[in-house]
Amino acid sequence: AKAEGRNTLRFYSSDLERTSANNISLEADILRAVSQEQFVLHYQPKVDLETGSIVGAEALLRWNRPGFGITSPNIFIDIAEETGLINEIGAWVLNEACTQAAAWQNLGCGPLQIAVNLSPVQFFRQDIVQLVAEALRATGLRPECLELELTEGSLLKDVERTRLTLQKLKQLGVKIAIDDFGVGYSSLSYLKNFAVDTLKIDRSFIFNLADGTRDEAIVRAIISLAESLGLKVVAEGVETDLQLGCLLNHPCDEAQGYLFSRPVPAEKFSALMIERPQY
Ligand code: C2E
Ligand code: CA
Ligand code: CA
Ligand code: CA
Repeated sequence: AKAEGRNTLRFYSSDLERTSANNISLEADILRAVSQEQFVLHYQPKVDLETGSIVGAEALLRWNRPGFGITSPNIFIDIAEETGLINEIGAWVLNEACTQAAAWQNLGCGPLQIAVNLSPVQFFRQDIVQLVAEALRATGLRPECLELELTEGSLLKDVERTRLTLQKLKQLGVKIAIDDFGVGYSSLSYLKNFAVDTLKIDRSFIFNLADGTRDEAIVRAIISLAESLGLKVVAEGVETDLQLGCLLNHPCDEAQGYLFSRPVPAEKFSALMIERPQY
């Protein structure tokens, strides 16, 4: 996502001067976006592969940027991280996602786990434990219904501190997932050092997934690793029946991707849950 973000900015203006001018105006726009409530969350279902029903949702940030329309996080997360604005945005995301999940819970939608992406910047700079505790308290969401998705990022730079923070988060009762598992050089060090609950297989391994492929061998190995460690495993970026069919041959717990649904606004997600698609 990071590389995509940088490339996108470079695409808009190759010339350095214009790039920094664009970044400054982007930065100013992001700052305004927070106070003017231009952010919105979309939700993408996570489907239980045994039953075909929706068991969770990943909250994905969207920015309704005046003059630009709905803007993807790939365009602005990097700058939000560099400027520290991610702390404010991230706090909003956490509260909004927990509020929505608690509302779904109270409507009797059944147990639904809400996944929230955490930036490494947020993870280190903020009192993240207090923020999460406060979001749970304010919304009444059951802690085990909140899952925090972490990418490798820079979390291994300070193993001790990360371990301690994760321990405190787990004491609150929330779940921890490693996002984009397998693409970073340090995926296995993560598993060695940190007690996590879930692995999300990166979509690059799913993209060409078919029986008998190298990708299948890798996916099978990741699933078996997760199983040995007692972790939940989620496949992301599932777009085709072929990919799904291949996953169904393995004990993969959940899947997420355009095959089931794109990320959608909350009202649309409610409708999806009522339909409860099964196969
Ligand atoms: P991610 O956490 O890996 O999220 C999955 C991305 O894959 C999402 O892109 C989602 O829309 C997309 N996706 C889902 N299913 C499919 C599929 O079947 N095929 C393909 N090609 N793509 C699929 P999105 O929403 O544009 O988000 C991009 C990244 O921005 C996320 O990657 C995450 O790293 C970051 N992000 C999103 N929301 C937040 C947030 O609230 N906070 C932070 N810190 N980062 C966020
Ligand atoms: Ca990603
Ligand atoms: Ca994620
Ligand atoms: Ca991911």
